[in-house]
Amino acid sequence: MFFVGLFIHLIFLFSIFDIYFKSPIVKDVVPYQPKHEAVADRLVLFIVDGLRAESFVNYTTMPYMRSVANSIGRWGISNTQVPTESRPGHVAVIAGFYEDPSAVAKGWKENPVDFDSVFNQTKHTWCWGAYDIVNIFTKGHDDHITGNVFDPYDSSFSTSQNTTLLDAWVFHSVSDLFLSAKKNEEEADKLSKKKIIFFLHLLGTDTSGHTHKPKTPNFLTQLRYVDEGIKEVEKVIREYYGDDGKTTFLMTSDHGMTDWGSHGSGDDHETQTPYVVWGAGINTIYNGGTSDPATLSMSLDHRLDLNQADLAPLMSTILSIPVPVNSIGEVRIELLNMTLSNKALAVYSNSRQLAAQYNKKRLDIETDAISYIYQPYNPLTRDKYDEIISFTEKLVLEENFEQLILFSEEIIRLSLAGLRYYHNYYQGPLLILVTLSFMGWIAYLLKIVLTQKINVDPGSPNFKRTLRFYGVPVTELLNIIFSILCFTSFCIVCVQNLPMQYYVYFLMPILLWWYALSPLHVWIKAIRKLKENKSTYTLFVEIISYIVGSFAMGLSFTYRWMLSIPLLGMAVWPFMSSSGKHLNKKLLPAWSCGCLALSIFSFMPVVGKNVYIELVVIAGLFWLAMIAIYTKSVLLNKRKDKDEYRREIILNIIQMVLLIISLQNIYVQSKRFDNGTPVSTWYQIIAWFIAGKHNNFFFLLKYILQ
Ligand SMILES: [Zn+2]
Repeated sequence: MFFVGLFIHLIFLFSIFDIYFKSPIVKDVVPYQPKHEAVADRLVLFIVDGLRAESFVNYTTMPYMRSVANSIGRWGISNTQVPTESRPGHVAVIAGFYEDPSAVAKGWKENPVDFDSVFNQTKHTWCWGAYDIVNIFTKGHDDHITGNVFDPYDSSFSTSQNTTLLDAWVFHSVSDLFLSAKKNEEEADKLSKKKIIFFLHLLGTDTSGHTHKPKTPNFLTQLRYVDEGIKEVEKVIREYYGDDGKTTFLMTSDHGMTDWGSHGSGDDHETQTPYVVWGAGINTIYNGGTSDPATLSMSLDHRLDLNQADLAPLMSTILSIPVPVNSIGEVRIELLNMTLSNKALAVYSNSRQLAAQYNKKRLDIETDAISYIYQPYNPLTRDKYDEIISFTEKLVLEENFEQLILFSEEIIRLSLAGLRYYHNYYQGPLLILVTLSFMGWIAYLLKIVLTQKINVDPGSPNFKRTLRFYGVPVTELLNIIFSILCFTSFCIVCVQNLPMQYYVYFLMPILLWWYALSPLHVWIKAIRKLKENKSTYTLFVEIISYIVGSFAMGLSFTYRWMLSIPLLGMAVWPFMSSSGKHLNKKLLPAWSCGCLALSIFSFMPVVGKNVYIELVVIAGLFWLAMIAIYTKSVLLNKRKDKDEYRREIILNIIQMVLLIISLQNIYVQSKRFDNGTPVSTWYQIIAWFIAGKHNNFFFLLKYILQ
């Protein structure tokens, strides 16, 4: 029984990956070779790890980047998706798709799946940065992607001292490459090629954000250092190529950071990152420029916000290389200075890349699906797809570029919607199956409780004979129906070549309900008994309350205030139910007041936004008062009766002392943190002692006192 429950819950847990976190990668898509001319020969990509948009636009600490964004370049907010972590952020920028969270679970350093990237499509790419980021893109492509990595955990980059060392390593290594290329012919030959990328991963800001928190002077110093470094690298590269005007520069970030130095979730500070693009082929806007009122003197005319994945096709378009096959980004052509024909062909190649991906995904599902139940994506079925592709090919030949842009944009829109449709194709049925399984599991447990409580003999021949449906015994009828269901589900999974776990998803609800419902007379007897004991009205109210409560609990994941509904219900519960009669008269209003007070909490700001250390201290003091009152008014009166009470009094006093020490510890540490003083070792030892040894200590004490 225990293992059945464990197994079922593990299945429920894993089903989440099949329902929500499926890998977006479509295998074996053919890259589309673009037909437009490149606007630059090479591209330099700076990813300032953990730089949030707020730190860039609201502070003047990156003067060079800001002046570039407001004059010769373009800038904007690049919106990222959750999880706001380094790996998915880099994958979105460089490969153009949002990695599913399951990839995170499979490990950061290893590539769970091989995927195409902008780097992979270049003639050559040089990368510098932390090994766990650079290796994501170099692995398996050593021939044309060169990785230069450092170990950020190496003690020579000791983060408590100076986070700029990490970025200094990157900047110096880049300069070294160009310096050595002046003497090394082979290297110089590689550097002279077109369609090449230099990628600089700058980890210092992320490390500084975690240790020092954004907005602190330490963090701003780090930003200033990065700004200087980018300016220097740009100078080195421009000089090496004799200022030929064929280099494009892009600065962005993988994810943002909260005020308290964390990232991973969907807060605006975490999802909004800045980007600045400048150099060859960038559509410069020459005018006085109006300042963006929301930001500190940044030019509004130069601003164009986009999605993080849009940066991948932008880089591909600049170099005229195939857009990574699994990219879902849309090229923002407004940023580029191109002729109409080039613009049209660039958008067209982006549309063909997305269409190819959509078509492969459609074919994958379509080949295995049973034709009777298959529901195609109607706006772009096989026929419509062929038709629109051949039509746009004709437009290319006729050089009808205005029409081509319009139709390409339509293909992009339809392909993206279609990709979403097929990606979630089995989501609806799976959700229904898992819900049915869950309800089946509840019914299964209920049946076990009922057989024990009501004392129904499952094998009673009386019932077997009496329960009949059109002359057929109901038990046998159930067996036949469930057998047929099992067989059909098995066939549905088998014919469609669905993964192994789908057999479990399909069969589990059937088997659970089968077991829960047979023998049926347990339920009939239970319902009869219930009717005898309770009025229909109370039963109805109870069922409604449970349903509303369950829904509120579920919805509270999205709307936090929903949590207050069950608490309000619990406040009035003792007055409505029979159990209230057994309760103490004083306890009744106290219970209601407690529930009501607790219900206010779901309207309060979430933990982490701001630190209110005073609230923590007040809660501690309140708790202290409670223990004191309880010890004085209850335990002290009874101490003469039993040894047990005496022990409890001693334990309570020790607990109060520990609580006072903890409160003092928390308060002093937080004050030290605010002042930037390092954590005191003594306080740390005391804190660990209280936290870790608390339980052992009490066990020991209980033992001694006994
Ligand atoms: Zn990062």
